[in-house]
Amino acid sequence: PVVITGLHKSFGDNEVLKGIDLTVTQGEVVCVIGPSGSGKSTLLRCVNLLEQPTKGSIKLLGAEMTDPDVELNQVRAHVGMVFQSFNLFPNMTALGNCIIGQRQVLKRSKAEAIEIAKKNLAMVGLSDRMDYVPAKLSGGQQQRVAIARALSMDPKVMLFDEPTAALDPELVGDVLAVMRDLAHAGMTMMVVTHEMSFARDVSDRTIFMDGGVIVEEGASQELITAPKERRTQIFLKRVL
Ligand code: ATP
Ligand code: MG
Repeated sequence: PVVITGLHKSFGDNEVLKGIDLTVTQGEVVCVIGPSGSGKSTLLRCVNLLEQPTKGSIKLLGAEMTDPDVELNQVRAHVGMVFQSFNLFPNMTALGNCIIGQRQVLKRSKAEAIEIAKKNLAMVGLSDRMDYVPAKLSGGQQQRVAIARALSMDPKVMLFDEPTAALDPELVGDVLAVMRDLAHAGMTMMVVTHEMSFARDVSDRTIFMDGGVIVEEGASQELITAPKERRTQIFLKRVL
């Protein structure tokens, strides 16, 4: 579903991505790791064109994202994105947050949208919190609402940018468990994370980025337990 070729991205003089080639196949779970400032978020944001690439090609679900004719909103509707900050609508309940996109973008009937929202809130373990507004939920619960909201749009690909980084440590596990369930259910996922055990145990492949390039990639278990490149070794020694 995702084919990235020769991707470059600069902010002014600052070249943040220096030629990224990466393919994520159907049902694959790919983790992206690397030091702060290495370009992980920029890479993810380029995938659904939240950032405009300077050069290169991004094929998402068969559509060339940099093609001026591509219906961006149409393609984006099938890509779920979950950020470090939960970005829920503060004045809507958990259920309302999971309904609005289905109604406005997918034009589903109210009854269908409610049914799908409830199913996904149940999947993330929040059946008993559907009528709560975000302020009355813990960070971990809010993030699970954000995941349920994304899933309610029937995404073909899910992008996660450090979804647990803002959470209290005791809340991280619940969110990772939901992501693990999704992975096992066959969802195609790109996950930027500092959770090395998640990367090692759940993802198929891990990409180590540094300085805007992919320094090393491989089967997750192997890359994390036996990295070949010196820069990967130094990074992992620091975070493990
Ligand atoms: P972290 O682990 O801290 O989240 P990251 O790997 O996600 O880091 P990016 O957020 O992709 O890194 O940032 C890479 C570089 O691009 C940084 O030097 C950052 O300052 C720069 N950058 C990112 N977004 C912008 C922007 N909108 N305008 C200018 N520079 C930016
Ligand atoms: Mg980032």
